[in-house]
Amino acid sequence: MKLYVASEEEILSGKATDVYFVRTENILRKKGLDSVKVRMEFHVYSLPEGYEWAIFTGLEEVLKVLEGKPVDVWALPEGTLFKPFEPLMIIEGNYADFAVFETTILGILRHYTSISTATARVKRLARDRTVLFFGLRVLHPAIQPMADRAAYIGGADGVSGVLSEKYINVKPKGTMPHALIIVFGSQTEAWKAFDEVVEKEVPRIALVDTFYDEREEALMAAKLLKEKLYAVRLDTPSSRRGDMLKIVKEVRWTLDINGFSHVKIFVSGGINEKSIVKLRDYVDGFGVGTSIAFPKSIDISADIVEVFINDKWVPRAKRGKLPGAKQLYVCPNHINERVVGLLSRNEKHTCKLCYSQMKPMLVKYIENGKILRKLPSADEIRNYVLNQIFKLPEPSIN
Ligand SMILES: [Zn+2]
Repeated sequence: MKLYVASEEEILSGKATDVYFVRTENILRKKGLDSVKVRMEFHVYSLPEGYEWAIFTGLEEVLKVLEGKPVDVWALPEGTLFKPFEPLMIIEGNYADFAVFETTILGILRHYTSISTATARVKRLARDRTVLFFGLRVLHPAIQPMADRAAYIGGADGVSGVLSEKYINVKPKGTMPHALIIVFGSQTEAWKAFDEVVEKEVPRIALVDTFYDEREEALMAAKLLKEKLYAVRLDTPSSRRGDMLKIVKEVRWTLDINGFSHVKIFVSGGINEKSIVKLRDYVDGFGVGTSIAFPKSIDISADIVEVFINDKWVPRAKRGKLPGAKQLYVCPNHINERVVGLLSRNEKHTCKLCYSQMKPMLVKYIENGKILRKLPSADEIRNYVLNQIFKLPEPSIN
């Protein structure tokens, strides 16, 4: 018996890879092509239906993998919003030196970016409502810190994993499980015990759908904990759900007419983009699990786009891909004014709306294995993401 988890050593040494990359490296070395220098570009050529943008994340882990390897790396800062055909990252080096890392790097970027993008869309649709990521139970525990980080920097207001405090310096958030109430055999006893035992700074959020109707239990909790009650959580099973919006409105009405307007309403259980749009005007916060933890895939791919021949870079790519390592320019005032140019040209572009100099978005992170920049904290990345997505209209949902 064991846990089927790749170790950090296996990942950093390139053993977590597809076998054809090992064979490719072997062939290149045997045939004397191990010093052919290339630029490999990471990009997305199409997004899931209805998606107009995605959020690039996972960079810190990729830099950790490439640190100390004989490569140069340019990338968008972690948390940068991007669109199809835009460059996300470029690795320059002898292909034989980094070929085996492609699987690992793509795996990190695709998984992170998919989770962060799903979270960013959910947060954008939730507007000023709280979004908590409660999806760890959907995932293998080995990646709990990764999933919490991806959701948090993607814009979640909180995550539930205990390890998030150690890994990303974010205090975990949560309420109470039905199991607590079942063990006590009484909602009121369980809520009272929670209030007595749990640290004062933790908001009192009572789960109110265990034995009775949500409206009855919400009122019971409010009468018991009074001004200490921060919120009630409705996690109504789908077999009992009917119209969730009507249930929420009824709970709100009942709390209000009994003098408990301060009590917020949180909803969890199968929450997705659609239910957020439906409930957001009546609910204060959402606990979102599966729709973030199992997001739509943002299919990042990696292609060699330039080869160094006779002392100069020559654009070369497979058909269907645009040759040349690229740079992305974005107007600092207009996030939708974007131009793609060649990285090596250091182009200047002016925004056609405000005439500002557009900003080259890919910056150099690694030179010959050495990290060049201080990396931002999870909170800094999250703020950066929120700043971008709230400049854009709400995403359309299918
Ligand atoms: Zn502009």
